[in-house]
Amino acid sequence: MIPHEFEYASPATLQEALHLIADGSGKILAGGMSLIPMMKLRLAAPPSVVDLGRVPGLNQISESGGVIHIGAMATHHEIETSPVTLGRCPLLAETAASIGDTQVRNMGTIGGSIAHADPAADYPAALLALEASVRLVSAKSDRTVAASEFFQDAFTTAIEPGEIVVEVLVPAEDVNEGYKYEKVAHPASGFAVVGVAARVKSQVGKISMARIAVTGLGPRAFRDAAAEKLLESGGDVAKAAAVVGEGEEANSDLYASGDYRRHLARVHAARALAAAISRAS
Ligand SMILES: Cc1cc2nc3c(=O)[nH]c(=O)nc-3n(C[C@H](O)[C@H](O)[C@H](O)COP(=O)(O)OP(=O)(O)OC[C@H]3O[C@@H](n4cnc5c(N)ncnc54)[C@H](O)[C@@H]3O)c2cc1C
Repeated sequence: MIPHEFEYASPATLQEALHLIADGSGKILAGGMSLIPMMKLRLAAPPSVVDLGRVPGLNQISESGGVIHIGAMATHHEIETSPVTLGRCPLLAETAASIGDTQVRNMGTIGGSIAHADPAADYPAALLALEASVRLVSAKSDRTVAASEFFQDAFTTAIEPGEIVVEVLVPAEDVNEGYKYEKVAHPASGFAVVGVAARVKSQVGKISMARIAVTGLGPRAFRDAAAEKLLESGGDVAKAAAVVGEGEEANSDLYASGDYRRHLARVHAARALAAAISRAS
């Protein structure tokens, strides 16, 4: 398929890129793994495309004051293999490693993935469990939004016209923390039919903090506060996992019904929590 005609720009600075998308009509091009197929299928027809590929520094991964800064153009492969993410935020590295195939991980970026906000994408579950935030910059503003406010609906985020995701901020792993990302991968694409990110703080068998986030089940990823509370108040893993997804809208498609997705979310929440607890101890 051939896309509609569009203008292409490859700015050399972030300022130039912000100026080029300031009127909100153009689209940012990152890895192109989602945007290019959408344009070729004519599901998207932006009049202009602004490629961030030449903007320096946007793929940096670093730590400062206990916060991991991940540039929007960091690829899934860079996040999977960076000593910073592996050492200080291993849940995100593990999640990146589960995405698609080698080609997709070499091209796709964290900024592109979260901006696209596919309901079956992997990062949203990890970023919610990590209580991460997203920095959004426009020609006129610079603001940071919690992941819980960033992901709003299927393919819908808090990004305003003219804004670019410049980095994702993730608190570094604390002592006595354990984590696990568990996923049922679609056999063709690798996208999450259901994915569960678990993060716990546990000492001598007592869980003082639990974060459980689910992707793939409904239109957007969510944190399951009821299941978290059960664990934090002394409930066991089986009890907590059994309520995951209760009351949440569940997607049905040719591959899996909503009920089956909910069942998978519970089974994989139990597995993710058990692994997270054993890693924390
Ligand atoms: C075969 C295949 C398998 C895949 N499997 C998985 C999988 O298992 N799990 C998973 O999570 N994903 C999967 N993906 C999606 C993949 O992770 C993509 O990398 C991701 O969805 C889009 O990232 P990108 O960098 O390619 O963005 P692009 O395709 O370039 O852009 C996507 C959208 O985000 C916008 N955008 C990009 N960067 C920014 C920015 N910095 N600021 C604001 N807007 C921006 C673009 O304008 C566009 O609307 C798969 C994709 C393919 C093709």
